[in-house]
Amino acid sequence: MTFHMLGRGGRDLAIDLGTANTLVYVPGEGIVVDEPSVVAIETVDGIQRVLAVGSDAKALEGKTTDDVRTYRPLADGVISELRIAEEMMKHFIERAGGAHFGLFHAPEMVVCVPSRSTPVERRAIKAAALNAGGRAIWLVEEAMAAAIGAGLPVAEPVGSMVVDIGGGTTEVGIVSLKALMYGTSERIGGDRMDEAIGAYVRRKHNLVIGNGTAERIKKEIGAASATPESELIMGSISGSDVATGRPREINVSQAEIADALNESVCHIVELVLAALEHAQPEIASDVIDRGITMTGGGSLLRNIDRVLSDETGLPVRVAEKPLSCVALGAGRTLEDKEFRQALCAA
Ligand code: ADP
Ligand code: MG
Repeated sequence: MTFHMLGRGGRDLAIDLGTANTLVYVPGEGIVVDEPSVVAIETVDGIQRVLAVGSDAKALEGKTTDDVRTYRPLADGVISELRIAEEMMKHFIERAGGAHFGLFHAPEMVVCVPSRSTPVERRAIKAAALNAGGRAIWLVEEAMAAAIGAGLPVAEPVGSMVVDIGGGTTEVGIVSLKALMYGTSERIGGDRMDEAIGAYVRRKHNLVIGNGTAERIKKEIGAASATPESELIMGSISGSDVATGRPREINVSQAEIADALNESVCHIVELVLAALEHAQPEIASDVIDRGITMTGGGSLLRNIDRVLSDETGLPVRVAEKPLSCVALGAGRTLEDKEFRQALCAA
């Protein structure tokens, strides 16, 4: 008899602790939590308490008072605000029904980490997961999880390249025979794109906009490169005038947003080209034959697959459900013990 059978135990789960979004996968059920990685903390009489987590906390971003602050504890791709990250994990684990209630089963957890996170950072993530109620914690590299979730043949002796563009970081990985043959991550992703849009609008239109507004316009009309129609595709944004501070609304075109995003997109292209250069010749030739698969929210930017394909000369496809690939891949390693042994360091 296992402790699972005694009373209400926690459930095993896989967590994609993303810089922008956290997803929790439960075996047999699929993704049960999909929320922004944001925590709002309120300080009353010097005592801090969690006011909101996830989308409720994200709704408070940019609107906080002296007493209330919002945090994105994983904004750099690793846990920078450890205690807050832990609180966030606890909250999502509980919501997924995975926290340890009392004496019995504490969940086994697979947690994703950026490929380039240091041993110290990995230990910190593990410690946070343990404190958040995990029993055995397995770490899997994000690029590997993304490749599995995107349905790439990671166990076969062929090289598959995955490019995962998240909020804080972009991961590039080449996997083969259940191993990450090459993996790199850089602090470039959706957040940087939002900042670039903000800077552009300020410079060209003398308007100060919030990050939330920048993100919205990016999703609505943003593109990695302009097309002849881009001058005509318009969106409206409001902010405050640089000189007067008064609220003002303007229209911007897709061509302008593409212009603003150019540097970020070039940076991502460079990262991919560097990965191709560093790969062993046999592996690189597989990638040349089989092309590149994109995952992560940033892969939803219009034309980014086309730009990457033009710049590398390789076929590029965006995975199905790009925002869920990492969580689905991590879930697969949780369900398949053999797979997990091969992939994860305990
Ligand atoms: P992370 O794994 O770092 O949490 P995600 O894979 O969840 O990141 O992707 C979040 C990022 O994707 C955000 O920066 C978000 O603005 C961006 N994103 C989501 N949808 C789109 C879209 N349609 N176009 C461009 N960017 C998008
Ligand atoms: Mg991610």
